[in-house]
Amino acid sequence: MKNNQPLIELKDIGKIFYSEELETHALAAISLQINRGEFVSIAGPSGCGKSTLLSILGLLDNGSSGQFILNGQDVSTIAAAQRAVIRNREMGFIFQSFNLISDLTVAENVALPLTYRGDKSRREISELVNKALNKVNMSHRTGHFPSQLSGGQQQRVAVARAIVASPAIIFADEPTGNLDSSNAQSVMRLLKALHEEGATICMVTHDQQSAASAQRIIELFDGKLVDDSKQISAVKSA
Ligand code: ADP
Repeated sequence: MKNNQPLIELKDIGKIFYSEELETHALAAISLQINRGEFVSIAGPSGCGKSTLLSILGLLDNGSSGQFILNGQDVSTIAAAQRAVIRNREMGFIFQSFNLISDLTVAENVALPLTYRGDKSRREISELVNKALNKVNMSHRTGHFPSQLSGGQQQRVAVARAIVASPAIIFADEPTGNLDSSNAQSVMRLLKALHEEGATICMVTHDQQSAASAQRIIELFDGKLVDDSKQISAVKSA
């Protein structure tokens, strides 16, 4: 691992969606860095480009222009298959709607990133799954199916799935968007605890309370980065 450089570096990233005669400039000239161990929140009003930026950062999509350097490697224009390999090796994902697979048990869902990689024995997988479920206080539900859990519990299982393979970065897209305030707070406490243990987290949210849990807030407006100076201390005293 190359520790003397940012984990992520975007240089002048633009994204244009083309549909029939219409061009939508979703992102323009986005330049930013994310360092190892940071907890960054991407904030801004609906339609400002947060999901588009997260898709590019999470290698679900390519930018239309600009450069994306991940861990020292230029990944700006690599093919979808190669993106999938890097995504599985380096990234964990948490979604607003949990995205657990309904006919797999809790333990099987959490094991998925390890199963896809195919480089661990069943015993190693089982140990890592137990460790991840312990961390999110869900080890008493390993044999349950997602439909038998509350929303808050499902999101904690999704967090376990995101961390099980020790990714370089965790992406969370509106992780509290489908939760009541008490479950939302519990998931945010969990993300903060993971950050305190050294995890790098990049979260998209329009919920100001959740955004304030991050260490740094990147604000987008109309596809442009308008502020990347808010640190947690400034937010708390505001
Ligand atoms: P946010 O997540 O902040 O709500 P998005 O990233 O979803 O914003 O969208 C940014 C802009 O790009 C919006 O104008 C949206 O309509 C447009 N957009 C997003 N995805 C697509 C797409 N697949 N095709 C065309 N336009 C899109």
